[in-house]
Amino acid sequence: MESKFFVTRKMADNVTAICGYCSEVAYLVEGSERALLIDGLTGVGSLKSFVRDLTELPVQLVLTHAHLDHTGAIFEYGEGFIHPYDIPLMYTAYHSSVENRFAFAQQEPYSGIPRLTPPRISDVIPPCPVKTWPVYDGDVFDLGGTQLEVIHVPGHTVGSIVLLDRDNRLLFSGDACNINTILALDGSATVEEYREALLHLLQFVPEFDGMLGGHGAHPASPEMVAKGIELCDRILSGTDDGVMRESVGRLMRYASGLSYPELFQNKMPNIAYDPERLHRRPTPVITDGPNLYR
Ligand SMILES: [Zn+2]
Repeated sequence: MESKFFVTRKMADNVTAICGYCSEVAYLVEGSERALLIDGLTGVGSLKSFVRDLTELPVQLVLTHAHLDHTGAIFEYGEGFIHPYDIPLMYTAYHSSVENRFAFAQQEPYSGIPRLTPPRISDVIPPCPVKTWPVYDGDVFDLGGTQLEVIHVPGHTVGSIVLLDRDNRLLFSGDACNINTILALDGSATVEEYREALLHLLQFVPEFDGMLGGHGAHPASPEMVAKGIELCDRILSGTDDGVMRESVGRLMRYASGLSYPELFQNKMPNIAYDPERLHRRPTPVITDGPNLYR
């Protein structure tokens, strides 16, 4: 199905990928009693209305993390599940503002995804306070006949989660581990914390064959979990490639010097990190403001 704003692709009998303006991807998983919408895209066009056309089931929204290209529809549904560590990040001016989400939608999409109608700023869903239901590692969404288990993978953000669908042998991995895993952002975990998170995720790898991530341009595969741990070891021992590259408008230090096609071919992840934030720290640091509320 296709609209001005979204394009779908069937990933399994009960799993539909929904692609937004810049190849950011949400997933609709349907059980016999309810459906779970995994991520809310950038909030350009009404994802809620689009999903209403896809399923008759009641829909619950869960966010893999709080970045602006994953949270848009929470401002339409008015509620959603999110790991509590990521709630303050979701409300930062950077991740909630109409202007930033509109700017994101105007980037060039990943090739292979059809260009949709040019967005207008009036198409952007404005932010509002929302009801958040906390999700934690080990929580299970029972959709009726289909269950999804939450796995907490702090790294890209401190509250990043992934969801395991054992029936389809799929992992909905958000931005947790792929060929461009970015840890160098406000609200990211340290490399040491990420390494521990990947060790935790590694236990589940025998239970899935595919990883469905949050961006068409940044593919992921189960082999990347173990290789991600090796890459963290190289960063922590100072033996990584440490090349500087631009991503999301900033210059970042990357652990591997391989190109995207080389990484994809070798099922290798890459990690962008901040050399000042390698080791465990006591509390998440999120910088925003000072804000003026009026
Ligand atoms: Zn992200």
